[in-house]
Amino acid sequence: MALNQPQNTLETSIEYLKGIGPKKGDLFREAFAIRKFSHMLSFFPFRYVDKSQYYAINELKNSGAEVQLKGTITKMEIQGAGRKKRLKAVFSDGQTTMELIWFRAADYIKKSIKLKKEYVIFGKVTLYNGQWQMTHPQMDLSEKVKENRHAVLQAVYPSTEKLNQAGVTNKSLSVSIFSLFEQVHKEIVEVIPPWVCEQYKLMNRKKAYFNVHFPQSHAVLEKARRRVIFEEFFFLQLALLQQKSFRKQKMNSYAFTKVGDFFNSFYKEGLPFDLTGAQKRVLKEIRADVFNGRQMSRLIQGDVGSGKTIVALLSMLIAMDNGFQASLMAPTEILAQQHYIGLQALLADFPVKIALLTGSSKVKQRRLIHEGLENGEIHILIGTHAIIEEKVKFKNIGIAIIDEQHRFGVAQRSKMWKKNARPPHILIMTATPIPRTLAMTSYGDLDVSVIDELPPGRKEVKTVHRYENNRLGVFGFMRGEIKKGRQVYIVYPLIEESSKLDYQNLMDGYENVLREFPNPEYQISILHGRMKPKDKDLEMERFVRGESQIMVATTVIEVGVNVPNASVMIIESTEKFGLSQLHQLRGRVGRGADQSYCILMSSYKLGEEAKFRLETMVRTTDGFEIAEADLKLRGPGDIMGTQQSGLLDFKMASLTKDKEELLLARAAAAELLEKDPQLNDPTAAKTREYFLRNYRKMVDWSQIS
Ligand code: ADP
Ligand code: MG
Repeated sequence: MALNQPQNTLETSIEYLKGIGPKKGDLFREAFAIRKFSHMLSFFPFRYVDKSQYYAINELKNSGAEVQLKGTITKMEIQGAGRKKRLKAVFSDGQTTMELIWFRAADYIKKSIKLKKEYVIFGKVTLYNGQWQMTHPQMDLSEKVKENRHAVLQAVYPSTEKLNQAGVTNKSLSVSIFSLFEQVHKEIVEVIPPWVCEQYKLMNRKKAYFNVHFPQSHAVLEKARRRVIFEEFFFLQLALLQQKSFRKQKMNSYAFTKVGDFFNSFYKEGLPFDLTGAQKRVLKEIRADVFNGRQMSRLIQGDVGSGKTIVALLSMLIAMDNGFQASLMAPTEILAQQHYIGLQALLADFPVKIALLTGSSKVKQRRLIHEGLENGEIHILIGTHAIIEEKVKFKNIGIAIIDEQHRFGVAQRSKMWKKNARPPHILIMTATPIPRTLAMTSYGDLDVSVIDELPPGRKEVKTVHRYENNRLGVFGFMRGEIKKGRQVYIVYPLIEESSKLDYQNLMDGYENVLREFPNPEYQISILHGRMKPKDKDLEMERFVRGESQIMVATTVIEVGVNVPNASVMIIESTEKFGLSQLHQLRGRVGRGADQSYCILMSSYKLGEEAKFRLETMVRTTDGFEIAEADLKLRGPGDIMGTQQSGLLDFKMASLTKDKEELLLARAAAAELLEKDPQLNDPTAAKTREYFLRNYRKMVDWSQIS
């Protein structure tokens, strides 16, 4: 180790690391974005093999287990020729023997093996014709093993084909990383303030990083991992919470100082029902936000059917009472349309002008809307993405509401910020329940309101699972419900709008339903992505008005659609749907006072995962429970989509497994910011430095969420 190391060894380019060099350096950059020494420190093993134990061959039990054995090679022989050539050897641990096999480099290996010398071998054992075998074992002479051993548990690192071919093995990588520690150990300084380390009993940083790569024992590894996970969560929470407090202190929006006629008269005379306690509470939270002049950035989480729309409307009325306009953006045309129709009906007797702007709005209509928005005639604009286009300008927008926000990218949302001199208040709504851990990271800088109460009189949707051979029974059940005046959805998977097979299935299903439910006794609507927007509207309207009893559709009806009289949801090929999608679909029924049903149709062949999804749906209607199950199955990145992947890109932490650490880290970050918002205290100097170097970008990013 050289003396007088410069202080920035951690910044050294990766190719200078022992055993790496320019070629492998390129491969590491390419495959894992590892460019410098510091990145390699956090190139974490994804598992460990326990080399603390030696097995005897006669105690082996599980085919497929990775084990370590000690013994000698007593015999070896090349068999076959050409591509079938292989080396077979007999390995004895003194009591029993097993067979070792090499399909590659047979000659070379045969030459390098020393008979009668003691070896330590490691690999996966399989039982074949009553005999234990190991293919391509790792082999080391016993006498060498003791010298080389850095740790009892040996790290296994992610790799790629190219890295393998370039000769990067776990072993060589361990040697490189060991030498990395020798070079940089002075620079691995503590970055979490000492009082936090003490309070949360964190292992010191250097020791933790070392032990993650070279664990001295299971117990130490566990503590080391906890520490690294805590650190990851801690800095992310610091970024999110700092952003939140910045917004609360500095981000000026418009103060809505009064509640006036628009709100009061609608509240007294227009509300078709009493608000639930949860709706009232959330409305209060919103009012408190918009009164103080700082920009509101609030997320409303409320399960399907919990009544978010009315809360949105009341918030918009408050904006109008203060001379502002409002917008409500929805992810699909159907949903935008529904909001438009629904709100117009609610506001029919009030002097409120609402407009609808979507991709299919006609040029002339569009021009009128643009005018109305700019001269302030239009109070509320409802629409799709079309709203955020630059051409769409408001006279004075004060609040922008985004429904089913998980459907939108961050960049799209941020465009609403620029629609007035100061950014308008932002209210985002989601019915996709998000597990708490995920919400805390993905929406960590937002204020969150939860509508955790359904309107009174709702009955839990009864859910059953049926196979294809029950179809006649299902049709019979539909007939009965339709006779009672109810309506039925039948949903087909059409994950890719372009999939011909899915489309064919939908059409076959439609024909089938037509035969079973003939005209004119029955009216059937159909809705899918290939239809013209105008035809879609027509079909949807027919169903909304109750003119058709059955709606055969793809997942275009997934979010938001509200037809309270529909009481049966039949899902075809349920195994093709994800959990959150199923939950959304089921949420389309159970919106009125009648008992509703969800029938999950599936084929007989179900994989483990599909079975689990079906069972979960039958067992519970609790959105949060379903969300937790979904998170376990799919992982956070998938659930949030690529838009959030930066934030969820943890190197070690897991949102499903490390909940406790997340809560602790968030609490610690909050406490630190409360004491020292700018991290100016000398005890936080390193924290600040590390934070600015690694998390500044993230803070900038979350400015726009
Ligand atoms: P979501 O939260 O899924 O967007 P909606 O706002 O569409 O739910 O509301 C679902 C249904 O419940 C609508 O028909 C709505 O009129 C009705 N609703 C909302 N709030 C109440 C309430 N407090 N009492 C009775 N019905 C309500
Ligand atoms: Mg809704």
